Amino acid sequence: QARKRFGQNFLHDPGVIERIVRSINPRPDDAIVEIGPGLGALTEEILAVNPRLQVVELDRDLIPVLRTKFFNYPEFRIHEADALKFDFSQLVTDRPLRIIGNLPYNISTPLIFHLLGQAGVVQDMHFMLQKEVVQRLAAVPGDNNYGRLGIMAQYFCRVQPLFEVGPGAFRPAPKVDSAIVRLVPHATLPHPAKDLSILQSVVRTAFNARRKTLRKALGGLVSVAQLQSLGIDDGLRPENLALADYVAIADLLADDKSTAKPANEVSDD
Ligand code: SAM
Repeated sequence: QARKRFGQNFLHDPGVIERIVRSINPRPDDAIVEIGPGLGALTEEILAVNPRLQVVELDRDLIPVLRTKFFNYPEFRIHEADALKFDFSQLVTDRPLRIIGNLPYNISTPLIFHLLGQAGVVQDMHFMLQKEVVQRLAAVPGDNNYGRLGIMAQYFCRVQPLFEVGPGAFRPAPKVDSAIVRLVPHATLPHPAKDLSILQSVVRTAFNARRKTLRKALGGLVSVAQLQSLGIDDGLRPENLALADYVAIADLLADDKSTAKPANEVSDD
């Protein structure tokens, strides 16, 4: 019986499972970590190629099911834990992690923010998400779903939407459409901010008032003269600014540390 509070919709369409595995392209030596294995639909296919697979699952009733199902894989490891609080860097040995999962949709946004904070130990990530979340991740300035999630994801990663999956591929069928996305952390950040926490507060502040002009939306943080000194038109709206513009604003504020708020992770508040 699938449990709603854990966002459980189990994949059962073999064609979709195969297509996901092909996109991931697991290799025997990869350090793969699956979030939310559920009943092991993806797990089974990955294990066949990569017997060192590790999984992070919160629902304790699923742990014995997974242990029984995969008893013949002695290197398979199950971490009974909340992925939102899990320190993925502890799993790193000799190579960066490849993180995969058909994520629980009720926590996918905070979970992605949590994982972006650990992008330094990650080779790539492949996730099944609600289709709208994939659209937000890949959105560019001017799109109406362009916002904090897309900007912070693109700060750390190249975002590549792969394909859509209908509700019929799951049991129980979710009410929404899904899509697979690939996130590949940049080897070198294209627009590094002097202070990540300042960038995060600028972006957060801007999109708290996404319908207003920048002059109003960012009024508490920067002056019109400062925006103009960066060549940014203060009559634009937050959804019109590119990542590079947000970084420029944040860097200007970083030089005047008064607004800095200490933070060492990518926050979702
Ligand atoms: N991967 C399976 C599949 O495709 O059939 C299950 C996917 S289901 C959408 C989400 C899974 O994430 C469930 O197994 C659920 O118990 C697990 N889960 C929910 N919240 C979690 C959390 N905070 N940390 C780790 N796993 C979680």
